[in-house]
Parts: sequence; structure tokens; C-alpha cells
Amino acid sequence: MLLEIHEPGQTPLPHESVSAIGIDLGTTNSVVAVSQSGKPEVICDEHGVALLPSVVAYGDDGGATVGAAASALIQEQPDRVVSSIKRLMGRGIDDLNAVAGTLPFDVATDERDGMVRLSLAGRTLSPVEISADILRATRARAETGLGREVTRAVITVPAYFDDAARTATKDAARLAGLEVLRLVNEPTAAALAYGLDQGAEGLYAVYDLGGGTFDISVLRLEKGVFQVLATGGDAALGGDDFDHAIAEHLLSARGVGEGTLSAGEIKSVLATARAAKEGLTTADSVSVELTVGGETTTHTIDRATFEQLIAAHVGRTIEICRQVLDDAGFAPDETKGVVLVGGSTRVPAVHNAVADFFGGRPLGNIDPDAVVALGAALQAEALTAGSDTLLLDVTPLSLGLGTMGDLVEKIIHRNTPIPVARAQEFTTYQDGQTGMIIHVVQGEREMVDQNRSLAKFELTGIPPMVAGAARIRVTFAVDADGLLTVTAREETTGTESKVEVKPSYGLAEGVIERMLHDSLAHAQEDVTRRLLTEARVDAERVILATRAALTADVALLENGEGAVIESAIATVETAAAADDRDAIQAAIEALDHAAQPFAQRRMDRSIAAALGGKSIDAIDAELQNTENTGPT
Ligand code: ADP
Ligand code: MG
Repeated sequence: MLLEIHEPGQTPLPHESVSAIGIDLGTTNSVVAVSQSGKPEVICDEHGVALLPSVVAYGDDGGATVGAAASALIQEQPDRVVSSIKRLMGRGIDDLNAVAGTLPFDVATDERDGMVRLSLAGRTLSPVEISADILRATRARAETGLGREVTRAVITVPAYFDDAARTATKDAARLAGLEVLRLVNEPTAAALAYGLDQGAEGLYAVYDLGGGTFDISVLRLEKGVFQVLATGGDAALGGDDFDHAIAEHLLSARGVGEGTLSAGEIKSVLATARAAKEGLTTADSVSVELTVGGETTTHTIDRATFEQLIAAHVGRTIEICRQVLDDAGFAPDETKGVVLVGGSTRVPAVHNAVADFFGGRPLGNIDPDAVVALGAALQAEALTAGSDTLLLDVTPLSLGLGTMGDLVEKIIHRNTPIPVARAQEFTTYQDGQTGMIIHVVQGEREMVDQNRSLAKFELTGIPPMVAGAARIRVTFAVDADGLLTVTAREETTGTESKVEVKPSYGLAEGVIERMLHDSLAHAQEDVTRRLLTEARVDAERVILATRAALTADVALLENGEGAVIESAIATVETAAAADDRDAIQAAIEALDHAAQPFAQRRMDRSIAAALGGKSIDAIDAELQNTENTGPT
């Protein structure tokens, strides 16, 4: 959820010098903009071009060339040129398989830190270093355009970027000499550009289809307050997929398999496909020349064929829109308008599908290539010029921790506005327990192992107390950039332990979405499993308590009673080892029943003792034995 609090009619303070820029660090193209007195403008290069291709070429001297000049080298020297590096931001080796096929370059991996590295022109570079080169180029462009030094920026990221990818983006900015004032989600920035410009009230959707990612947000504008109600998307869906579809079509027309092509040839075929695609935005039919294996052939593609090739991809974006609206509890026709963002929304089939689904003409009066950077620039100005604009985003997945029986206790729910801090109290499970493992997980499922593990840390130095007496307060805080810090504190002594969650690598493409999908698909199953686990935890607790009582008060047992209780315990143990929750509960009840007279005698004696003023330890012991919650 995004919340924009802006006093109606109040404009940011006037200021003399521009000190912060907005950067749309795109998978395909990057754009830099600056805002002065609430008027954002794109900063173009010396030829008046706004888009800076997010492509970097490395020379033998280690120098980096960024943008169109680097794109031009793709075909001649493919092994020196990197594109779409954003897809690897914050990724680890484990994530590579999921994205390998979608990358237009070869990826090397580095065992040192588990992070992805690329081998280029005899050097080994990380995605962070490569992104830093792109950011340096945007910074240089801004400095040239503005005629002054620029050191601060608001940078946009896809709504689905996780902690690792956001941290990687910040690291890249730092390498490029830029202080990041705020990371803002791309659809949020676009919404901001429109919201501030127009101020029209109602429900809006932001549909962003770029080169490599798709994002959809639902937001509401009301009395100067601008709130995003839900977000969703697919980190592996965009115009690149359209290029691939055309490339495959062309290659199959030539009867060649993609596997037989060199890296340079693949890049050349993709470039041809992309030109064809962009041509089809305005023309009904285009003709292209394809050169593979030294042989050139000419092919004609018409728009209808192209639309067939991409129909499944376009349909998928609409399906995601439907899900997100559903999540937010709205019908498509309840939206007052839909904002188009990203170069791929220029494709007529995309434009039309969006118009059909939302039942109205999409808003496109701000250039879809520039709208994100313009929104970022507005936010940069707001953050430096001291306006009343407060911008918040939402957590894409729930954050929680593992508790008894490996159940997940959600602390911050999905779609909660950030920054946010939430705390919950837990207690110890065993007498004398001095440490507690806090296992932080992200996801919607009920069990720890079905969610993504973010971090595990231990709170030590809890003073030995009876089970249930310690008060451990666990606080989850997500900052404005979406980064999570978890603190655990034992309240009676103030013992504290803390972890900043920076996973060593991010989620594989599509994983967040799959996690959401799984949580819906398995909702019933999860509830069943949760109930079963709770029954097992219950069984264990009852067995422990009964055994402790038997040991403590053997003398209170009557003839044969001990054996009956032992056999009831055995039945509970057997039931707990199986998967029938009802059987476990029945066994627990039977045990309660069998132990009832014995428990009654213990109780009577404890009360008598207490009334006799001798000791209340026995009563305490009874109470302690029934308390046991908290993380394992
Ligand atoms: P990103 O946000 O991923 O950096 P952009 O918003 O810059 O991407 O969009 C880039 C994508 O838009 C590319 O796939 C590009 O081919 C596509 N694109 C740009 N212009 C057009 C056009 N006129 N027709 C169709 N697709 C276009
Ligand atoms: Mg974009």
C-alpha cells in the first residue's frame, strides 16, 4: 500500500539549487529527471535523447561505455557487452537456473560469496558494479545537463524487488557516488507523477510493461491523499519476451534451432526481432533481414501474426491484473482509469487488452518511458525541498517467525504500508531456557519450511526462569526502502539481540508470485496441517505435564492408577506420531479423563498446603506446567 499525504493546494517550498535527481534504473532503458518547483523534466543527452539503454560495454583498459554506443557493439563484440543486468540484481547462484534461459549473456558464478558474477573482457564483474556503471552514466548526464554536481537521488525499483535486490541497488548507487534518498517502487513513482499533476479523485490502476518486468498496482486518489491498495506483477515478463517470440518465429521459418547459434548471432536475431516489433507498433506489416550462418534472408511479419505470437504473454498480464483487483476487492470497471507505463504499452495489442479489461481509455498523456523517472524526480524534490509529501509503499509478502511446531506467526502482513514496526510477545517453552532461536520467514504459507527463510538468529542470555515466565518482545521493523530489521528483547532483563535482514541472495524470478499462488492453492491443506501441528504441540505439552506430575507425586497415586495413566500417555504418543488430528484430540481427552482423579487429589493437596501457609510452590508448579508458547 502506498500513501501519499499531500496538503491540498500546498506546493513544495521554493529553493535555489537543485540537489537531487530521480532515476528510473530500468532493465532495458534508464531515464534521469529532475524537478524544480513541482515541475519534473527529463534530462536528455546532447542529442536530445531521453532513454539511456541500460547496456554496458567494457574495454580492455577496464573502461565502461554505457548506452547506445554500447548497444552498437553488441553484435560485433557480444562478449564485452552486458544488457538486462537488472534481472540479476541481488541474485545468488541458486537463483540462476530459474533465469538462465532468459539472459542474453553468459553468467559466471563466484563461490566466494554465493553471488552472481559475469566474465567480461577478461574481468569479473558483479551486477552491482555493472549497475553502478549505468548509474554513473545517468549521474554524468544529469551533471552535464544541469551544470552542477549531483550527489543525491531517488531511484526506482520494481515493486517485486526483494530485500537483496533493493540492497544491491543501493550498493550500486553508493559505488556511483550517489546517496539514495529513497528507493521508490516504479508503479508508485508513475502514480505519483499522475497524482500530483492531476489530482483527479477515484480508483486507478497502474499497468507497467517494460522490457523485462511487469507490475500492476491499484491505487486510490482522494482529497489529496493518494493510496495504493494492492500491487502484483511478474519479474520475468516484458517486451523481451515479445522479442524472443518473434526471434523464434523467424528462426523456425529458417529452420534453424536456437541452440546452433553463436552468442553474437543470438543477439543479432534478437535485435532484428525487436526492430520488427517496434515497427509493428505503427505499421501493419514489416519486412526484416535475418543473417545467420553467413546467409541473409528476408522475412515479412504482419501485425496479426505478431499478435498471435504474443497473445499468451499479454493474456498473462491481464490475468495478473484480475488477481490483484480481486485481492483488493474491486471489479475492473470500478477503476476510473488505468495509467500506462513502460515502452511495451505502446504495442497496440497491449494497449487494447488493457483498455478492454479495465473498460475505458488508458491514461497515457505522460510519456510511458519517462513517467517513472518524472515521479522519482518529484519525490526527490519533495525529500530535499521539505514538502509535506509523505510516500509509503507496501510489503509484498508477509513477514513472520517460526514458532512451536514450525508454525509461522505472521508479524507484518502482506500489503502493509511501510515504514512499519510491529511487535509481539513470546515466552519460553522450557524451564531454565536461556536462549531462543528467532527464525525470520517471508511468505503466506502456514509452515516454516513452506516459506522463504530470511534469517535465523539467537537471543541469548535470557535469565533462567520457569517456562512461560520470560517475556520476549520481538519487533519487526521495515524501513521506507523495504529493508527489514528484527529485534528480540527479553523484557525483564533488557537482554537484546538484533539482526538486519540482508539475505545473501534474492528470490528467483517469479518466486514471490509462485509463493502467493501456492498460498492460495494450498490454503485448505495449510489449515489442516496447522491444526494437526497444533494438536501435536498440545499432545506433547500434556504428556510433559502429566509425566512431571507423576514423578512429583507418586505417593498420591491409587492402586493401578499409574498404569492406566501410563497407558493413556502411550495412546497419545501413538496418535501424535500419526496424521489424524481428531485421534490426537480424542487421546488427549482420554488422558485428561484417566488422570482426572489424580489431578484432583494434587490440586486439593496444593490448596490445602497453600491455605496452611506452608508453600505455594506446588500451585506454581501446576501453573507453570500449563504455559508453553513461543519460538523454538
Ligand atoms: P524497462 O522498464 O524494462 O527498462 P522500458 O519501459 O524502457 O523498459 O521499455 C522497454 C521495452 O519497450 C522494450 O522491450 C522495447 O522494445 C519496448 N518498446 C519501446 N518502444 C516500443 C514501441 N514503439 N513499440 C513496441 N515496443 C516498444
Ligand atoms: Mg520501466
